[in-house]
Amino acid sequence: MRAGVRFGRLRVLGKPFWSENERGWREANTVCECTCGGVYVAECRELQKGQTRSCGCLSCALSRTGR
Ligand SMILES: [Zn+2]
Repeated sequence: MRAGVRFGRLRVLGKPFWSENERGWREANTVCECTCGGVYVAECRELQKGQTRSCGCLSCALSRTGR
């Protein structure tokens, strides 16, 4: 996970960092820039699985793919 790598509309801006998610688990997150101009903090794991591809501007397209 290096700066400049693209996942869908997101481009990684910096190094991953650890933070707790809503379940209290430590997750590697990274700050990304979306092509719509938004900045979004995404989980590295979800980026790598292809589950996160935008800041949310694609959410209507992704919401039908399950979870
Ligand atoms: Zn966006």
